Amino acid sequence: MAAVVATSVQSADNISVLGNKPRWDVLERYQQTITHGEFLHLIDDVYCTHGFAADLIDVSDDHARILMSRQAQKFFTLRFAADSATRKPVPRLWRPAKSLPAAMLEKPLSGLKVALDPGHLGGSWAKMEERWFQVGDTKPVQEGDLTLQVARLLAPRLRQLGAKVSLVRYGNEPTTAKRPDDFRQLARKILIANGVPQPRADVLEPGDPAKEQTIRWQSEILFYRYSEIRRRAVRVNFKLHPDVILCLHFNAEGWGDPSNPTLTETNHLHLLVNGSYLAEELEFDDQRFEMIRRLLSRALDEELPLANTVALAMVRETGLPPYEYPTTNSTTKVGTSGYLYARNLLATRLYRCPVVYCEPYVMNSKDVFARIQAGDYEGTRNVNGIERKSIFREYADSVADGLVDYYSKARQ
Ligand SMILES: [Zn+2]
Repeated sequence: MAAVVATSVQSADNISVLGNKPRWDVLERYQQTITHGEFLHLIDDVYCTHGFAADLIDVSDDHARILMSRQAQKFFTLRFAADSATRKPVPRLWRPAKSLPAAMLEKPLSGLKVALDPGHLGGSWAKMEERWFQVGDTKPVQEGDLTLQVARLLAPRLRQLGAKVSLVRYGNEPTTAKRPDDFRQLARKILIANGVPQPRADVLEPGDPAKEQTIRWQSEILFYRYSEIRRRAVRVNFKLHPDVILCLHFNAEGWGDPSNPTLTETNHLHLLVNGSYLAEELEFDDQRFEMIRRLLSRALDEELPLANTVALAMVRETGLPPYEYPTTNSTTKVGTSGYLYARNLLATRLYRCPVVYCEPYVMNSKDVFARIQAGDYEGTRNVNGIERKSIFREYADSVADGLVDYYSKARQ
């Protein structure tokens, strides 16, 4: 499941929650690395598909003028390359598949640096993260534990294929050193800024409809989502430096009461890459800057064919139909597989390398629930009337197959 809530606190700096001050000067390195046509295509079809205020980005024939600060009326000028022949090389720390040396047939991932990001925390944090449900006396379903189990199966498979693999987390311990109590003041400020003049300290009961307006709930989400993902990004960007990162998640449909969850017949698959920024997200100076930096890094050139190939391998293995978002308010379909969407999530935005974000399986579908209860096992077993692999191995195998398909072809 992906993050949905967008809390914000407006300040003079116009930076989103726990965000960093943009460093527009680093974009100087991208001068003349993109043509007018390429820039417009990426803005119109991928990153800014929901429009934006007229003064944010102004595109001329040979340059774009991007607002740095509305208050200071400062702009960044990006000069375009005249054409693709005179375009300067894009500076980046990650290596596109095409730039890797040809690989031996049995080691198609040799030398590739892959990071795996098992979504959420799981363990004793699962209830707080709202990634927990339990049917009667059965084993509770905790997304953060499921994603870690997949990462632990996937890592050795990728190593066997030649990749250098790191996990962004190895257990249930948070990456951030902060805890919810560290965010009580900020939570209070955010609630007041969002029209709750006297926020309550605590949630009254599990089903409390006003729980999102309590300091408890806000400080918890600041901890497990905003602080945690930002710390993971620091680890990925400044320590791990992968060529590609795979964010592993399980999806869900609304389950209602987590102690008496709704099980559904619905099951599906989709993958996400960064893009599809909302007009209000682009108003934040940091998000606008991060969007432009990502666009200029051309991560999408790698993400799109890679995610499409991984999607097709996952379909082949799982047989799942594509997820259709009920609205197009926050996502934009991209690529050719029918399974791929652009969306502005913290992880897809902040990890500075190609990011493929996987959302297979509806955890509270009857079939997936039965498979999760069956746990991990070798070979095949009859689960829910069908002979098949464990859901964890099916997930890991399908992602590994997708990487093999993509890199074997791209490195020929
Ligand atoms: Zn998730």
